[in-house]
Amino acid sequence: MPDHPASSLDPGGREAPDGEERYEVEPPDDEPEEPELDPEVAARRDAALAQVRKFGDPVLRTRARPVERFDQALREEAERMGRLMGDALGVGLAATQVGILHRLLVYRVQLHGPVAALVNPQIEWAGKDVETMEEGCLSLPGVLVDVDRAVHVRVRALDIEGEPILVEASGLEARVIQHEIDHLDGVLILDRTSREQRKAAIRALREAEPAA
Ligand code: ZN
Repeated sequence: MPDHPASSLDPGGREAPDGEERYEVEPPDDEPEEPELDPEVAARRDAALAQVRKFGDPVLRTRARPVERFDQALREEAERMGRLMGDALGVGLAATQVGILHRLLVYRVQLHGPVAALVNPQIEWAGKDVETMEEGCLSLPGVLVDVDRAVHVRVRALDIEGEPILVEASGLEARVIQHEIDHLDGVLILDRTSREQRKAAIRALREAEPAA
């Protein structure tokens, strides 16, 4: 799983930055268990994850710029992101997460389905129905928090050639797109969950940091 209704798509009302809440937190008592992976798949995943920017990297808090050039470089960028996402066993990836501040995201909600790429995506409409589900994020290893998302969204974007497209998405697809557009705005799932879950997640992330 990846990674609000229309009224809260603008993250302007965000709370204090992460990192300042390192105390008085209960350790999470339900650590997610790692599924058993084929060693080769696991090695590929780890290599891909090593190329994904992690919590604490300021790029993840930076708003990405609209794409203006639809050239071979953009196509290669999207292809590389699609490969990384697949290798990392993720369902979505925003350019921000690989350190490129372009409004470009890729996602794939069916295991062997095609990778979709959205350029300069904008949520044009979000339905009133909201669902709470646990989300993870390739940039926040080991973290799963509850996030409310609109169940149905309509998104205007450009494809990789610069042609306008309209995506009507529901359920997991709608959730992934909202998660990835958040990345393009510098917003993380930590900003969309409860204060308690955010504190526990930040503590877990800090404890997992390699002692360097
Ligand atoms: Zn994410």
